[in-house]
Amino acid sequence: MEKESTITVTTPLLPNLDDLNQMLKEIWASKWITNNGQFHQQFEKALCEYLKVPYVSVFTNGTLPLLIALQALGVKGEVITTPYSFVATTHSIWWNGLKPVFVDIDPSNCGIDPDRIEEAITPQTTAILPVHCYGKPCDNKRIQEIADKHGLKVIYDAAHAFGVEEDGKSILEWGDLSTLSFHATKVFNTVEGGALVIHDEQMKRHVDYLKNFGFESEVEVVAPGINGKMDEIRAAIGLLNLQHVDSAIEARHRIAVRYRQALRNVDGIDFFEDMPGVRHNYSYFPIFVHADKYGLTRDQLYFKLQKHNIYGRRYFYPLISTFGDYRQLPSAAPANLPNATRIADEVICLPMHHELTDSDIDRILDIIVD
Ligand SMILES: *Cc1c(COP(=O)(O)O)cnc(C)c1O
Repeated sequence: MEKESTITVTTPLLPNLDDLNQMLKEIWASKWITNNGQFHQQFEKALCEYLKVPYVSVFTNGTLPLLIALQALGVKGEVITTPYSFVATTHSIWWNGLKPVFVDIDPSNCGIDPDRIEEAITPQTTAILPVHCYGKPCDNKRIQEIADKHGLKVIYDAAHAFGVEEDGKSILEWGDLSTLSFHATKVFNTVEGGALVIHDEQMKRHVDYLKNFGFESEVEVVAPGINGKMDEIRAAIGLLNLQHVDSAIEARHRIAVRYRQALRNVDGIDFFEDMPGVRHNYSYFPIFVHADKYGLTRDQLYFKLQKHNIYGRRYFYPLISTFGDYRQLPSAAPANLPNATRIADEVICLPMHHELTDSDIDRILDIIVD
C-alpha cells in the first residue's frame, strides 16, 4: 500500500511569488530595507483598515508586543493570567521581572474565568493578561468591569484572534492594548511578525519609540527601548497576505462546518460551535476527548492519528504552570486550576488550514469516527 501523505496541523498562507518579487524589486531599488520604510507604513495602515482599529504598531515577532505592552503601561508587581496558552504569554510577564498569578479557565471558551479573577487580586496586582484562546472572545465586559473596579490594566494576548469581530466590532478594541502574532503557523502571517493594537496616538508614539531603542530623534533617547522593528520584506509579505486572508478564513470555515457535521453524533467528543454575532477566524479546531464515553483517551487518539500520518497538536498541553520556574508559584497548584488541568488532558487541535482537501478531512474523520 502506498504510504499515506502527511497531514499537518497547519500550513502557512503564502503570497504569490511573482507578486512578492515585484515588491522585492521595489525594495532593492530603494535600498530601504528596514526602519519604518514605505511598506512598513503601508502595512500598518492596511492593518488598521482590515482590523477596524485606530492604531497598529508592527513588530518582528509576536512575543515582543507582549513584552513591550507591559513596559508601555508601566505594569508592576503581579499580573493575573491564564495557564492555558502558549508559553510566551507567561514568559513576557517573567521577562519584565513581574510575578505571574495563574487563574483557572472557563470551559465554555477556554479563556480566563472572570469568576475566579477577584480572589487572585492582591495589593501588588496591577494588570490582567487574558488570552482569546483559539480566537474565541473572552468575557471582555466582565474582565473590564473587574479591572475598572480594582484599577488594573488589561492587556489581551490576541495572538489567535486576528480579524475576530463581535457585532461588527473588532474584539481588539477591548482592554488597554492587544497583541497579535503573525507567526507562520497563524491564520495570518508575515513569516515571523506581530503587532500591538493601540487606541490613542500618544500610546502609538510611545510604543514606536520602545520598539526602536527609545529613539525620538537622532540625539534623543526618551525611554529604555529595545529593537522590535519589522523589516520591509516582511511588511511586503504582510501586505500581500492581507489580500487573501479572507479567502483562507472562508476555507477554514468550510472545514469547521464539515468537522462539526461529522463529530456532532460522536459520543465523548466535544467541540465549540460558533457564537452568535461573532465573526470567527477558525484559527484552530480543538476537540475535547472524554475517554469514558469515547473509548479512547486523548493520547490514544492523538497517537492513532499520528500512525496514519495525521498530525494534530495538543494545544495547550502541558499547562504553562507546570513548566520550570512557574511550577513553584502557589497559583500553579493543579488544585487551583481544575478546569485547565482537565482540559489540557482532553484537547487535540485537529488539522486546520486553507489547503486541507475534502479527502484529507475524510481521512481524519474516518479515524476519529471509527
Ligand atoms: C503564537 C503565540 C504567541 C507568540 O507569538 P510569536 O509570533 O511566535 O512570538 C503568543 N501568544 C500566543 C497565545 C500564541 O499562540
